[in-house]
Amino acid sequence: MTKLSRRGFLTVSGTTAAGGLLAKLGLDLGPSAAHAEALKTRYARESTTICPYCGVGCGLIVSAMNRSVINVEGDPDHPINQGALCCKGQSLYQVSTSDRRLTKVLYRAPRSTEWEEVPWEWAIHQIADRVKATRDASFTEKDDQGRTVNRTHAMASLGGAALDNEECYTYSKLMRALGLVYIEHQARI
Ligand code: SF4
Repeated sequence: MTKLSRRGFLTVSGTTAAGGLLAKLGLDLGPSAAHAEALKTRYARESTTICPYCGVGCGLIVSAMNRSVINVEGDPDHPINQGALCCKGQSLYQVSTSDRRLTKVLYRAPRSTEWEEVPWEWAIHQIADRVKATRDASFTEKDDQGRTVNRTHAMASLGGAALDNEECYTYSKLMRALGLVYIEHQARI
């Protein structure tokens, strides 16, 4: 007769009881065949980018096919998030697929209550004209004590977390060249 230690008895009886319970619940503990499906991103073109939502700056892999985004997921090689994303980052796919996404420039004229569609070309020229007019009207070469300052206090800029390092560098260079002193970034506020 095989001797069973106290520890062995508890293990065997516990396993038997657990097996009986699972069987009663209708769960099959028998071996099952493994089944793998092909990833939907198998033939997609992958690009890396940065999450545009907050200053953490998590890395993403965006998969696209036929000029449409089909998947967005965390980049496991990115040092910030190492593949993880918060719920906002996980829902980023919807930014590109939502039917509420704006794809045209909307303009609301002063004192108007309506938005109207305008061409990109028109909007870009409007922005440039207004920046130039404001800068020309407010530019200060010398301060009260005669020191050269070459600045304007009439404009400010706020960058977003969607900008990467190189874009922030270029952007801040442009703003400084215009004479802006109020240059901020979403990640700092
Ligand atoms: S995934 Fe979440 S934590 Fe990461 S940058 Fe986007 S919003 Fe911020």
